[in-house]
Amino acid sequence: MADYDYDLFVIGAGSGGVRAARLTALGGKKVAVAEEYRVGGTCVIRGCVPKKFMVMASEVSHALEIAEGYGWSFDNAKFDWPTFLEAKDVEIARLSGIYAANLGKAGVELVHGRAVLKDAHTVEIIGKNQTFTAEKILIATGGRPWKPESLPGIEHAITSEEAFHLPQLPKRILIAGGGYIAVEFAGIFAGLGVETTLIYRGPNILRGFDDDVRAHLAGEIEKRGIKVVLGCQHEKIEKTATGLVNHLENGMKLETDVVMFATGRIPHVKDLGLEAAGVELNDEGAIKVDPYSKTTADNIWAIGDVTDRMNLTPVAIREAVAFHQTVYRDNPQHFDYEAVATAVFSQPPVGVVGLSESEARRSCSAGVDVYVTRFRPMKYAFTGSEERVLMKLVVDAQSQRVVGVHIVGPDSPEMIQLAAIAVKAGLTKAQWDATCAVHPTMAEELVTLKEKQSGATSAG
Ligand SMILES: Cc1cc2nc3c(=O)[nH]c(=O)nc-3n(C[C@H](O)[C@H](O)[C@H](O)COP(=O)(O)OP(=O)(O)OC[C@H]3O[C@@H](n4cnc5c(N)ncnc54)[C@H](O)[C@@H]3O)c2cc1C
Repeated sequence: MADYDYDLFVIGAGSGGVRAARLTALGGKKVAVAEEYRVGGTCVIRGCVPKKFMVMASEVSHALEIAEGYGWSFDNAKFDWPTFLEAKDVEIARLSGIYAANLGKAGVELVHGRAVLKDAHTVEIIGKNQTFTAEKILIATGGRPWKPESLPGIEHAITSEEAFHLPQLPKRILIAGGGYIAVEFAGIFAGLGVETTLIYRGPNILRGFDDDVRAHLAGEIEKRGIKVVLGCQHEKIEKTATGLVNHLENGMKLETDVVMFATGRIPHVKDLGLEAAGVELNDEGAIKVDPYSKTTADNIWAIGDVTDRMNLTPVAIREAVAFHQTVYRDNPQHFDYEAVATAVFSQPPVGVVGLSESEARRSCSAGVDVYVTRFRPMKYAFTGSEERVLMKLVVDAQSQRVVGVHIVGPDSPEMIQLAAIAVKAGLTKAQWDATCAVHPTMAEELVTLKEKQSGATSAG
């Protein structure tokens, strides 16, 4: 170590980088972390956290509708975007401050600026005339939004990054994309009273999710007033005196005030100096790593979204812990990507853990048993709402283990966290059924599902 400035130099103070830096410094090593923007990374600054605040702000309109069914009345209820933005930004600054303070308490040195690799042991901070050497380097630079730069007029479109700071709430928005970020922002804007259109080139939203979830959610968000246009993409975006005209391939012309592209994210590797350090990319442009997060360079590791394995905050954190255990605790560990629960904070939200029905049909040789229920939540009894909850269990026909749980409906992200324990533990359908219901709740349906969907057991 004597030859280097640090034992570990981390690039990127986001979910993964902060955890790895803190653990390693607390273990007695000399650690620095470089951050080019704000400490906390995507999750805290322009991802999960501000997004969830926006979801919570926008859900209030629906709560007011439900409340009216229960006899409440609200004269003059209105929403003020600048007030919300200010409150959100104060909280985000507070959280970022806590992250920075925790780094300091652990003894991590924070370097402000963009870090670039000069060789396998040297990092330069661009524009600051600073160079550091380290025995080991951890790349945790995350991802960034991607949009089709060759599309005429794309310069008029924003991404999720700008959506957190719109100077005013638009009257009309068009969101391009069908992934979770597109669907979540469509719900946010629609809930805030913005005329919202979602266009997606594929046959249905949420590619990769269970087909019943995709179909159910598409129907539910339309009930909440979102116009969903599928199988279609942009030809160009034209700026006019009155707004932005979206020319779509199917001949449709839609004028909106804001166009947002949520068409995917790419690993943040541009100009990082990877070649100079001997760090290779895989075919998808993510940093190539082994199961222990080691790159093709012997002393360099990479974790989180920059490796594009499973792009979620808790996963980046677990990869950081596994890196620390492997490299500094003589306890080789790799994260287990099976049965990781995930939520889509659409309105209504989605909670999912384990295999979709089609994935299970491919991997369960004796076929699958499928249990599905759709019902109106009790909460909506007085509203005349047509909204329905979907709950689906996918069971391996041979072992009778519940291998997938899929919920679309209020509080599903909270429910799925607990269901994930049972799926991760490999519990059988009979063990789920032996669990007594909590009544009256929505979640009780999960332990009272009796009717197999007809023709379900098959290797399909
Ligand atoms: C809109 C949105 C909503 C999301 N919602 C959820 C959610 O609800 N739940 C969930 O689990 N996940 C969610 N995610 C994903 C989650 O934010 C990421 O998976 C997570 O932040 C990845 O952590 P990371 O450490 O890999 O990278 P990041 O958190 O992205 O951190 C990388 C950091 O590196 C910095 N950096 C990059 N290059 C350099 C450089 N050369 N020098 C110095 N610093 C650099 C960046 O500024 C950034 O701060 C969301 C993402 C987005 C965009």
